[in-house]
Amino acid sequence: MSVTEVRQLGVNRSTGTWPSGRALMCGVFGIHAPGHDVARLAYFGLHALQHRGQESAGIAVSEAGRLTALRDLGLVTQVFDEKNLSGLRGELAIGHTRYSTTGSNAWANAQPLLHHGHVRTVALGHNGNLTNADELRARLTRRLGSTSDSETVAALIANDERPLEGAVAATMEQLEGAATIVGLADGRLFAFRDRHGFRPLALGRLGDDPVLASETCALDLIGATFERELRPGELFVAGDGREEEIQVLEPAERGALCIFEFFYLARPDTRLAGVEIHGARVRMGERLAHEAPVEADLVLPIPDSGTPAAIGFSRATGIPFSEGLIKNRYVGRTFIQPEQTMRDLGVRMKFNPLAEVAGKRLVVVDDSIVRGSTTRQIVQMLFDSGAAEVHVRVSSPPVVSPCFYGIDLASEDEMIAAHATVEEVREAIGATSLAYLSLEGLQAATRRPESALCRACLTRDYPTPVPSYAAKLRFEPEPA
Ligand code: SF4
Repeated sequence: MSVTEVRQLGVNRSTGTWPSGRALMCGVFGIHAPGHDVARLAYFGLHALQHRGQESAGIAVSEAGRLTALRDLGLVTQVFDEKNLSGLRGELAIGHTRYSTTGSNAWANAQPLLHHGHVRTVALGHNGNLTNADELRARLTRRLGSTSDSETVAALIANDERPLEGAVAATMEQLEGAATIVGLADGRLFAFRDRHGFRPLALGRLGDDPVLASETCALDLIGATFERELRPGELFVAGDGREEEIQVLEPAERGALCIFEFFYLARPDTRLAGVEIHGARVRMGERLAHEAPVEADLVLPIPDSGTPAAIGFSRATGIPFSEGLIKNRYVGRTFIQPEQTMRDLGVRMKFNPLAEVAGKRLVVVDDSIVRGSTTRQIVQMLFDSGAAEVHVRVSSPPVVSPCFYGIDLASEDEMIAAHATVEEVREAIGATSLAYLSLEGLQAATRRPESALCRACLTRDYPTPVPSYAAKLRFEPEPA
């Protein structure tokens, strides 16, 4: 098989995290559409998935079994242009936007990665984190080119002598933790979800052709219709004139779709498990208003992720909604580094209060508080602008424990609520009052049963065994 990997020269972009230091992860996309410009469709799909990861982006295509991949650090619009997109031709494509959860933010860890095995070459994009990556990596006889856990999956498939379906199925059986995967090999597209279904994957149709995407908003953008979600433990394979849907793994008794998707991660226009995210967030705000009412003059969201819950809070209480915090949407994603000092600066660069907050009693609604540093600065900013009272309302329960399944939340030591009471957190952020949505309230707003969701970072009740130590950079080489 012929393989081309294009590395853009002279590009060494500085990318980082959101200024809030909030958790992000990855977006994946896959398509089999002979006769269409599949690279361009993947590019558009990745645009819709940009919010899931801003560190790197990439697309791999397969043309009659020949793989070509282009990936780099940066946003989708920084990595791709008309010229390099027109060089990506084929009938199959996969795409990836990345925020690192295992392995550093380096070119070698950008995806889709390519792994050349002794049986086949595999292009692969991964959303999630494996909890047995150390063990799997130790089993491999050849050195990997990257320090992410994802190449381990590609290596297992690339060195398995069975036909593609059998090789992928055998690999799925060895994985523990979270793995929503799209891949190309042997001139075919494959995609699967782990048996718990931590990360979403939607299957749609562009005409009769299959399209896979982390979120339905990517299907909408390219004009594909939603068909269904891939089931936990299911393998989907397309290409070579056939399609296969194979239930490789028995779905886990306890489903574990990430509840963070509902209150923060997924785009509001995405539909997840049959629920439109925007509507769920509005319900969270309504419930929060019933659980923790307060007398105030204005309800302000922390934009953008707090906006639907603020709408709900305003509707339920009749307190007028105000866009009192103006967000500069053109800073923050690309140049802000995750160090605390720069993060502090990032908050000031990103938000500015309107004059109308002066003298008012404010309800400020956010979707979550992890470290608390962003909230503290926003509260201070509002008081500095003359606010009389700042009541913080959070549309999720306190985040108290790390995620081992692909969300780079923070360590427990960095989580403001991990070892503090609500009153202690209130004091630390300097708010007039603070209240969180209850776990029951959040659960009800998702309209999904408790048995269908992972809520471990809120409850410390993990749906799988988790490693005692899983540092993000554990596969990096020792400094010389
Ligand atoms: S631990 Fe939290 S962030 Fe991680 S998958 Fe579970 S609910 Fe989502």
